[in-house]
Amino acid sequence: MEADYIVDGFKQSLLMHGIVYSKLIGDGDSSVMKRLREENPYGPNIVIKKIECTNHLLRNYIKKLRDMSNKRKSSKGECVPGCYQKILHDRLLRLRYAVTEAIKYRQRQLETILYENNLLKLKKDIINGPSHVFGDHSDCSQYFCEGPKIDEKNYVQDFKRLGIWEDITKIKNMLIYHTKSLMYNYNNNAAESYNSILAKFVSGKRINFSKKGSYELRCNVAVTVYNSGMSRLLLCNKHITTKKIITDAEYTNLQTKFLEKLKLSISEVQSLEKRTKRQHQCVEWHLERKKRLTASLFGRICKLRKTTSRNKVVSSMLFGTFKGNASTRYGIENKNIAKEQLEKVNEKEILPSGTMQGRREGGAVGARAPGPGPPEGPVVRGVFRHSHTGPVGPGLER
Ligand SMILES: [Zn+2]
Repeated sequence: MEADYIVDGFKQSLLMHGIVYSKLIGDGDSSVMKRLREENPYGPNIVIKKIECTNHLLRNYIKKLRDMSNKRKSSKGECVPGCYQKILHDRLLRLRYAVTEAIKYRQRQLETILYENNLLKLKKDIINGPSHVFGDHSDCSQYFCEGPKIDEKNYVQDFKRLGIWEDITKIKNMLIYHTKSLMYNYNNNAAESYNSILAKFVSGKRINFSKKGSYELRCNVAVTVYNSGMSRLLLCNKHITTKKIITDAEYTNLQTKFLEKLKLSISEVQSLEKRTKRQHQCVEWHLERKKRLTASLFGRICKLRKTTSRNKVVSSMLFGTFKGNASTRYGIENKNIAKEQLEKVNEKEILPSGTMQGRREGGAVGARAPGPGPPEGPVVRGVFRHSHTGPVGPGLER
């Protein structure tokens, strides 16, 4: 119901106010976002960005750390002594404070420093937060830290030995993933407080008002029936099912135009890669990957059977409502850890990369892969152990 109201609001925004609502502040519950993606109120070229509510992100961050501080064993399997559990538990507020202060500072800096650079600095601050709180000040920025205090103990090495550090890093990576949302520092307090006032008037969910609602609904239906006669359902149905049908020639024409657009020169391919370096945080990245078969789809496409409906596959690629699963969450949590380890082994920095487009396939195949760049080529990702291994299609293996 809530999603219906909001989608309707988006649909009317241009008509009523002449503006496009390009951002939506949400709190992790993506039923609204899912509906907006399905309905696409502004057409395929405008992607509505979801900005996570800062309060919710921080609340989740601290909640996960608190849960961790209550566990007797780290995920590495080491026993965590009570004193270390207490240290972590006592410093939860400071961990939150480290993030909120960094956000405030970086927001003030936006007037003087370029947005992209500022975003990287905020990310660095958030990464460094736990180190500062637990006594390692080697990477601290001067604006909030003047180095170790007298008698301050550095717990980082102990935490690393016990595997606590790795757990903290995983939880932290989930927060870092949303750095861009944090930079906005938006929250949905206004909506929450309105709801709390509303709850007072409707007595929360304690009294059943549905009978009253149902009475009103019946009145409305009666008015509709009176105005449009008994054929109202037919009218409604007609309105929903009327679609524009295009001829074969028109279709071929559109198809050729679309495929022509995908063919990029080498310099255009390089420029696209540069522009989409920020990946999921960049609107263009979302638009461009919708037009191509990306690496995450290869498995599905290679395994397609002759009888599988292509219609459904394409529609799920374009209007899919995928919002993450165990594999993607594992990826977010561990990607940075894996990257650091690989950098150590190879003694080479791994740089971020945008959408890379293959030229041989007429530009229809794309992938993203962080790597040292030419001439070494990209590093192929794959940190999640798939449940099934073996050939996935002719000439392709996992
Ligand atoms: Zn410090």
